[in-house]
Amino acid sequence: MTVVLYPGSFDPIHNGHVEIVETAARLFDKVIVAAVRNPQKGEALFSLDDRQELIAEALGHLGNVEVTMFSSLVVDLARDVGAHFIVKGLRAVSDFESELQMAQMNKRISGVDTLFIPTTSSYSFLASRLIREIARFGGAIDSMVPECVAERLAKRYP
Ligand code: ADP
Repeated sequence: MTVVLYPGSFDPIHNGHVEIVETAARLFDKVIVAAVRNPQKGEALFSLDDRQELIAEALGHLGNVEVTMFSSLVVDLARDVGAHFIVKGLRAVSDFESELQMAQMNKRISGVDTLFIPTTSSYSFLASRLIREIARFGGAIDSMVPECVAERLAKRYP
């Protein structure tokens, strides 16, 4: 049984993330989606608990997906949950440089390999940061995020 770990901030989860998990869930036996607080991304919009709840709801249609959160190194979590690979989504060449560096560092410190799944062009412009900004000013984000996220954002920014 092959288990993969898909880590990210997911603040909030959007359709680009969902697509990556759907692909990973088709390719592997189990996908563990793990939300982390990333201080480099500035102040979070949703708490880790809220993010975990939204991720679980957005991915409820997939039977082989588990959701968790963490505040350790990704490679330590990968070892603890028995993940064979780390999975990351790639939007564009701009993602590739930092993701490649992270993948090589993770390989060096733990031996764990990272697999990249490319997004389709219809989702390649999606980023949680942009969704937070648009939602804050009342813009339309419904086509970019799962329904539960759109509802939560609408409550947050009435
Ligand atoms: P964001 O950049 O949207 O804040 P995260 O930090 O939560 O996203 O990203 C978690 C993972 O999801 C990373 O591997 C990132 O490259 C990937 N990802 C983010 N947005 C997309 C997208 N639109 N399509 C595919 N993968 C994505």
